[in-house]
Amino acid sequence: MARLGQKPYRATQLHEALYRQRLTSLDQITTLPQPLRETLAAEGYIIGLPEILQTARSIDGTERYLIRMADGETVETVWMPDGDGGERGDGSEAAAEEEASEGLEGNTQPSAPRKDLRNVGALERNGYTRATICISSQIGCAVNCQFCLTAKLGIKRNLTAGEIAGQVVAVLSRHGVKIGADRINLVFMGMGEPFLNYDQFIASVHLLVKPIGIPESRMTVSTSGIEPSIRRFANEPLRPKLALSLNASNDQVREQIMPITRKWNIASLLDAIKTLPLGKREWVTFEYVLLGGINDQPQHAREVLDLLSGMKAKVNLIVWNPGPGIAYNQPKPEDVAVFQKMLIDGGMPTYIRRPRGRDIYAACGQLKRTVETTSPGSLVSIAPATA
Ligand code: SF4
Repeated sequence: MARLGQKPYRATQLHEALYRQRLTSLDQITTLPQPLRETLAAEGYIIGLPEILQTARSIDGTERYLIRMADGETVETVWMPDGDGGERGDGSEAAAEEEASEGLEGNTQPSAPRKDLRNVGALERNGYTRATICISSQIGCAVNCQFCLTAKLGIKRNLTAGEIAGQVVAVLSRHGVKIGADRINLVFMGMGEPFLNYDQFIASVHLLVKPIGIPESRMTVSTSGIEPSIRRFANEPLRPKLALSLNASNDQVREQIMPITRKWNIASLLDAIKTLPLGKREWVTFEYVLLGGINDQPQHAREVLDLLSGMKAKVNLIVWNPGPGIAYNQPKPEDVAVFQKMLIDGGMPTYIRRPRGRDIYAACGQLKRTVETTSPGSLVSIAPATA
């Protein structure tokens, strides 16, 4: 807008139309004068949402989308009604409880005020209290974690900030979600390594917070451990919570399953994380995928406790999700239980992420384009929207 000699409020109107009203053609933006819309069209601007080409729906309500960008490239995005438990203990529930009790102070009535039905969102009408959207930051991934299906794609390209935020807007539109009435959490844990697409990732956070209206306190970004980006992230004025995909209790094991450890070892990553100025209700999450017989034994739990001692941290355990062509074993349930108990007994808040959408390959480490050989025009949606 500045380049076209327009006043700043025109940019605000454009943001409003794109991200709040979710309009999909320049003609619909009636807040902009007709000559300006014509100029934008003549300059080659088009607007619209990334297109949901295909939907796979799990028996647990999780939906996995194949989403097409304007150049035809596709990514996967996941919708998890009621989340996956990964957000437990991250302080966001406390914030939500506070929000719920706002205005009740000094209220002497025995029951809470009746809810204004106009503000009941699509989620609540469908029996959910919240939903989590897992978004992708790159097409494919270059990091090559050995337990991850996405790694098998290699990297094709980075997504732009608009494409990252556009996934969220497309999914919110599909479910008729009203920001403000519905509680949405975002996790940057889909395809790709957000910290290898740092500038676009941060720009997308600004889009998601400001025009779209999702607070950064409801977002978590997960990194495989890009040390210089963690240090930059620590200085961001607006940032999501941080999760490190730790997955091993020492460098030897981590190098085997996450070769990137040879570049930045665990100690250097923890040093970088310690520079993060944590808020009152903020913890750093350490994600730990349990691989049977590899990293799930009592000595590993003891090492994890040593590594994280003194940190304001929590651990999310993820029982590895099997995928075609990956030769790991699922951990035994009794080993998972012992691992969790040892961490909790050692004073570390530790949760087990509920596997979501395992039957549709939507769970952690399972995102991979499953229809790569199918031409986009022949893809069909195989499940209707739920709302
Ligand atoms: S786990 Fe994440 S960082 Fe590692 S290969 Fe898969 S998508 Fe990339």
